[in-house]
This record gives sequence, C-alpha cells and structure tokens, in this order.
Amino acid sequence: MTDSSLPGSAANGLPVRESPWELAVGPTPDRWDDWSELDAASWPEKVERHYRCVPTICFNCESACGLLAFVDKKTGQIERFEGNPVHPGSRGRLCAKGPATINQIQDPDRILRPLKRKGPRGGGQWEEVSWDAALDEIAGRIRRALEEERGDEVVYHVGRPGEDNFVLRMLQAWGIDGHNSHTNVCSAGARLGYNLWSGADRPSPDYSETRFMLLLSAHLETGHYFNPHAQRIMSAKESGARLAVVDCRLSNTASHSDYWISPWPGTEAAMLLAVARELIVSGRFDRKFVKRWTNWKDWLAAKDVDGPGTFDRFIELLSEVYAEFTPEFAATECRIPAETIGMLADEIAAAGTRFASHLWRNAAAGHLGGWQIARSVMFLHVLSGSIGTPGGVNPNAWDKFVPKPSSNPPPGESWNERHWPKEYPLAHYEMSFLLPHLLRHQGTRIDTYFTRVYNPVWTNPDGCSWIEMFEEEDRIGCHIALTPTWNESAQWADFILPMGLAPERHDVMSQETHAGTWIGFRQPVVREFMRREGKPETTTREANPGEVWEETEFWIDLTWRIDPDGTLGIRRWFESPQRPGEKVTLDEYFADLFENGVPGLPEAAAAEGLDPLGYMKKYGAFEVAYGGQERYEAEAGGDTGHRGVEVLDGDGRGEQRVGFKTPSGRLEFWSPTLEEWNFGEHALPGYIRSQVHWGELDMDAGERVLLPTFRLPTLIHTRSANSKWLQEISHTNPLWISPGDADALGVVEGGLARVMTAIGHFVVRAWVTEGIRPGVVACSHHTGRWRMHRDVGGQRLASSIVAIEREDSVFRMRVKEPVKPFKSNDPDTERIWWEEAGVNQNLTFPVQPDPISGMHCWHQKVRVVPAERGDRYGDVVVDTEKSRAIFEQWMARTQPAPGPGNLRRPLWLSRPLRPVDAAYQMGSGD
Ligand code: SF4
Repeated sequence: MTDSSLPGSAANGLPVRESPWELAVGPTPDRWDDWSELDAASWPEKVERHYRCVPTICFNCESACGLLAFVDKKTGQIERFEGNPVHPGSRGRLCAKGPATINQIQDPDRILRPLKRKGPRGGGQWEEVSWDAALDEIAGRIRRALEEERGDEVVYHVGRPGEDNFVLRMLQAWGIDGHNSHTNVCSAGARLGYNLWSGADRPSPDYSETRFMLLLSAHLETGHYFNPHAQRIMSAKESGARLAVVDCRLSNTASHSDYWISPWPGTEAAMLLAVARELIVSGRFDRKFVKRWTNWKDWLAAKDVDGPGTFDRFIELLSEVYAEFTPEFAATECRIPAETIGMLADEIAAAGTRFASHLWRNAAAGHLGGWQIARSVMFLHVLSGSIGTPGGVNPNAWDKFVPKPSSNPPPGESWNERHWPKEYPLAHYEMSFLLPHLLRHQGTRIDTYFTRVYNPVWTNPDGCSWIEMFEEEDRIGCHIALTPTWNESAQWADFILPMGLAPERHDVMSQETHAGTWIGFRQPVVREFMRREGKPETTTREANPGEVWEETEFWIDLTWRIDPDGTLGIRRWFESPQRPGEKVTLDEYFADLFENGVPGLPEAAAAEGLDPLGYMKKYGAFEVAYGGQERYEAEAGGDTGHRGVEVLDGDGRGEQRVGFKTPSGRLEFWSPTLEEWNFGEHALPGYIRSQVHWGELDMDAGERVLLPTFRLPTLIHTRSANSKWLQEISHTNPLWISPGDADALGVVEGGLARVMTAIGHFVVRAWVTEGIRPGVVACSHHTGRWRMHRDVGGQRLASSIVAIEREDSVFRMRVKEPVKPFKSNDPDTERIWWEEAGVNQNLTFPVQPDPISGMHCWHQKVRVVPAERGDRYGDVVVDTEKSRAIFEQWMARTQPAPGPGNLRRPLWLSRPLRPVDAAYQMGSGD
C-alpha cells in the first residue's frame, strides 16, 4: 500500500515511499536536466526554481560517495548537494559531510589565488603570484633536479589521494621514485596483517548476506568506507544479522551492537586467538577449506620435519601452538569476561561462511604488533571458511576497479631511501611520518616537496620535528602546498597553490564498498553546467572561483613546462592522442580512459546514444560487471593465463586453481616471508604485547593509556574545518575519562587536565563518562586546529591563534585568541558561539614505528593529573630532543635489509609506485 500523504510520487520523480521510514533519495536521472521545486525562502509566495543536477563525487573522506549538485539555472550557482541515487556504492545516501560541501565552496576564508611567501619561511608574509610564474619556477627546479640526476629530491607527499591512478602514472612518466603517502599513520598495521595471509591488504566485507559481524572499529560512524558500509551494516541488522563491536569506547557503533566488547587496548589478538583455539578444540571449523587452502603442508615440512605430514598432525600441532589461549588466559590478559570467548566462538561457528568483519585504524593502528590483530581476525575467517563467500569477507582487490589509460610509462628504476629505508624492509608502505628523522639520520635533503591534502605538522605525531624540518631551507628546498584551504603545515610553505574542492575538479575513483565493482567520476560542476548550457568550452580554472585550479590540469601543464621540447621523454605521456605534439585535454584523457579501460562502459553508453565520456558526465558513476566471489576456486593452467596452485579435489586428485596472491598461492597461515626476513618468531598468527600493555603502567602514579585515534562522525582530519555546519556540531575534543579514574586522579567534569606523554604534555578539558573503559582515556584527533597569524594560516571558524615560544628544542604553544565571531560575506560567521577549538594532542606524541609493519603505534602511555597552576586550555609543550631519542630507540628494534637474494624488500610485497624488480636489489653503496 502506498501512503499518498508521503512525499514520493510518480509525478514529482521521487521514488514512491511505502512507509515514513524509507529513505527517499534524489531525483531520478531523467529529471536532472530540469528539476523544479518551490523556493522555501519565498514562502508563502509560491516561487518556482529550476535546477540542473550535475553528478560529482564527495571529497570529505575516502568513501567516494556520489554527490548530486543542484545548480540554479538562472544564476549558474550551486545551491546544494544531495546524494546521487545511481551511484552503486552510496546509493543516493550521504553522511553529514556530503551536503556540507556547500559550506566549503562558500567558505569566506578559502584561498582563491596562488600565493608565494615573502620573508622567512613560517613568517606569515605572503604575496599573490601568477600561475605562470609559480609553474615556471617549480618546473625549472624539477627539470634541473632531473638533469642533474637528483630525481630522488622531488617528492609528492599525499594524504588523501582522492583519485586512483593519475599521479602515480605521472610520477612514472617523470621517472622518479617520488611518491610518499600517509599509510603509516593510518592503516599500515592492518594492511600488513591482511597481506601476509592472502596478498590482499584490506578486507572487503560482504554485509549483504551476513549472519554475524565483528567490527574492531567504529564503522557505523566513521572509517572505511563509512556511509556505504554503514547503510549495509544496518540493512544486515534489519535482516537479523548480529553485531559485535570491539572498542574501548562506547562509540555510536558500539551503542548499536548486540555485544560491546571492551578489552584492554592492544590485547585484541589474544582475545581473537582464544576464539580461534575454541573453534579448533571444539572441532567447529571448516576442515575442508583449511585443508584445501592454507599452506599447512609447508609449515609441517619446515617445522615438523620428522612428523607424518598429515592434516591431522597439523590440527594436533595447531592445538598445541594455541593451547595457552584459553578463555581464562584471555580473561586475565584482555580483562574481559571469560564467557566472551565462548560467545564469539558460538556466533562465528553458527554464521560459518557468512561471518563478516572489519578492522581498520583502531587497534591495528595503535599498537606494537598491531598487524598481528589483523592476522588473528583473518585466522577466524580461515577457520570458518568465510573468505570470498556471500556474507563473508572478500579480498579488497576483487571489489575495486582501477581503469588505466591505453598507454602508460614504464616503471621507474630507482629506489628512494627517504621513503623506503632499509631498516623497514616489510613496511606497508612509505615511512612517511619519519621523514624529518630520516632526512637528518641519512644526511639527505629534498629539493622540491609537494604536500597535497596532507598536513603533517598537525596530523602526524611529533609535528614540532616537522616544523624544525621545514625551517631548514637546506633540508627542504621548496615546499609547495597544493590545498584548497589553509592548514597548519601550509604556514611553512613557499607556494600555496589553491586546488579545487569536490565539485571543482576531475578524478576517477573506485572503492571496495561491497561485493561489486564500480567507478565514480568527480567532475567540476560549474564547468559541466556551462557545457550543458552550450557555453563556450573552458578550462576548470576558468570555471572555478577566483583562480582555483585542479590538480589534473595543473600536473599536465607543469609536466609540459618541465619538458617543453620533449627532450626528457616525459612530455609525450601527456600529448593529445588525436593531435600529435599538442597538450592532451582532460576530455581526451578521460575519453581514452573510459573507452579503453572500462569493460562494458562503451556498450552501456552506446545503448543510450552516448560516448563513454558522455555517459560518465551524465551519470557520474558506472557499475562494472562483477567478477564474482570464491575466485580462488577458478580454474587455472592451460590458456587461462594463471599458473595457479594445485589443490586436491574430494578424491585426492590434483586440480589447478587460481588461488591467492601469495608466494605459495595459498592462504599463508605460516609466513615464510617473515621467517626469511628474520621475524620467524612471528611467522604464525600470534600475540605481541603492546607498548601500552597494562603491565607497563603504574596506575597508582597516575599512568593511563591514551587512545588518540578516533574520528568524529561529522569531521574529517584537516578538510572539514571549512564547513560552518560541521564546526557548529563538533569543534572540541574533550578527554573521555571514567568516573573511577577521574576520582582517583582528582580530575573533575569540565575541569582542565594535564596529559603528559614521553616528550611533553597538553592541557585539555575533561569529560567524565561511563562510555570509556577504566584505565583508558580517549581524545579525538579531529579538532585542535591552530594558526599563528590573524588573517592567514587557518579557518577562523575552526582555529585559535597561538603563540609558540621556543627555547632550544622546547616548543611552548599557548592560545592567544580563541575562536570568535567575525564579519564576512556570510552573516553566519557573526553568529559563532563557540570559543574552544580543541587541542592538537598529536604534537606531543613521539614517533613509535612498529619494527615490522612500519605503522606508527598511536596509543600512548600517559600520566594524567589535574591542570597545574598556570596551565591554560590548549597548552602544548614539546621537547624535540626527546622525540629524537625515542626515534633512535624504536629504530634499534628493526631488522634491516638485505633479506634473501640481497633484496631490500620481498618482491611479492607491493608498493603504490612500484619500480622495476631490479630496483629491489641493494646496490654496493647501500
Ligand atoms: S561517507 Fe560522508 S564524507 Fe565520506 S564520501 Fe560519503 S558522504 Fe562524503
């Protein structure tokens, strides 16, 4: 029955709603060229407004949800954003940050013109510069570096890429090993653990048919891939699936769970291995799957040389290896009820191949040995046979599709020690957050340093070491911040080049949001609107506000200036395929990509009388034909192109199957790679006690564990500071502390607390809550924005003005002026009612690189006391001399390359920008 009082109807183009609880998503594509509605502001007068709806992609987190921009036909202005209903990942839905894109494009503090610094770096003096002058100067530096064989001194350091291939291809064209990412402050721990099992470094849970979900993260509110996953998790719950959430905080996600499990931080692997043991000893595991798909024979051959080599012997040894992980051990070690183990084992056994899970930042990003937490959770999937099955977990690569242009440069031949130091041969990926320490340690420099959606001074641990690095102009020759808005690190840039926000740029993206594949097309909305209106063809820079550009056009222009006559062999990769010797246009580039790189798209486009580029401009997304699940079972050998792996059928006969992307082709329960690279004691899924294990803490002396990694659902790292709606909702980061700890430590609700780390302290306001595990305190890293100067350096609605006093290696940061109302072209900025902008706690953390995964171990051992006399809200004190000493201590735990065959890194381990295999060999000078 359709309720006619509900807004959906065939007449207005909205999906017909059967109940008030169904979500209506935006207008259907046939209405996008002329969408009309009454102007709410003109009520009670009925004034019709007409819009063109142009699809693009959100850029406020990594999920790449589809946006639909409503462009007023009269003014050509974007009026609002809703969800693109034909986007296969987000399906018309958005989180709060999607519609808030409108605030970002209207932000009165946004940077509209290229800027060049005057005076000393960090001095706050800037002058406008033309794009031509900036491009010529930067291109000249890069060309000189390439000609002088200093290509390693050119570095592109990216936080959130927001695209899948363009820049990597460009760096290959330049012939440099110049890519640096943020992975080691985000996900390296989890990725290594997953990768060692299967050759895929992320899980892609199939929530569609799942029976039981285990989330070691706050997936309903934040995380990979937030909105697309959250809506599928909720659907699974509505279909009867049960949810367990492992988190020390009672997050919004935990509040929706059937089981909230709060182990001592860093002991999660012990808990998961106890569940594994329970499944093994009770015989509730998928014997056939484990026998067929794990490398158990290799392990027996290496470790049980005189044994019978049978599967029964493997199970017998397995029980011995995990014998210590009893429920009682888990109860003591993890400080959880022993019954938790049986409950999880029962749920997983009952779900079988329909058991899904996710682990992202959270535990795996917090701890020494955090990668073993991912190894342990995957062990549960192996035991339950829930890998690549409906309702289970897929390897991420199955569910993501990255199209490539028809011609591509060859891989590079060099290896850049600045990002891939020999001390971390298995790091997943570049040792990005160590850059200031590595440059000093190696005595190296960077000539031209691009930061892009990357704010290391604020985001990374030990930001004051980054400030010191930026101040050394011999160490960083030229810092170019490619950014739409001010941020802390941009204060120490030489050039600030304003790049477009989500609706002001082109990118192609795909994410593993579900058991399916799709690509999304981010496009500059006003430029596309003008095209549809029949206005003369333009560049993105001409269509954008001020002189805001986009990276894709910028990089093509820069590449041409680096190699104007083509003699370096670079320019040819950015020449027009149709007009030899001329610069490729973006229409030409993306037309080639969509025509030749996306199976099925040309046919789908032709069916609508469009070319593939026209299709993507019209719909903003395309669902690529899915390759299906259980792909490891596909036949290999013969002319399939897959050598594959031999597995036994039911009668014991050998069959060639595609298998997994590991050296053995199987799921590697035992990692020969770890064995060969001197980490043999960790070669099986195991448990490593973390740097914040309860045994490390003197609780009576006020020591506690600080969890600094959780996101706020309404903010996203650096980027959301330019949204007034989001800032009004979330602008501070109080310290979560349990009532018992508050009493014991003398901290009071709403009072100030001093939180002391190994290199300094910060002063924050306390929030006394039952929603945090006793012994643990937590503080979100999403606020605490600051700037040094009144009119530049940060968004006024989100950042306080600070003074930084320096004495040798000691930094003392103090708030000089809080957030306050200000006049602008937006009257809302005079209505700002909040003052506190949070505390930049990350400045006070030393670097703590896990010696195997390279992940920064975020969780901190801290001492919490009431604020001392003279302390003020937002104070931060840091001694970088201490942070250097701690860097050396953690470096001393590593096992440097070379490994077998004189390699820097196992050849089978991927890199975002992979050079030729020969570059993996250490040279005589290393
Ligand atoms: S989850 Fe939210 S912020 Fe992330 S892409 Fe989707 S709408 Fe944007």
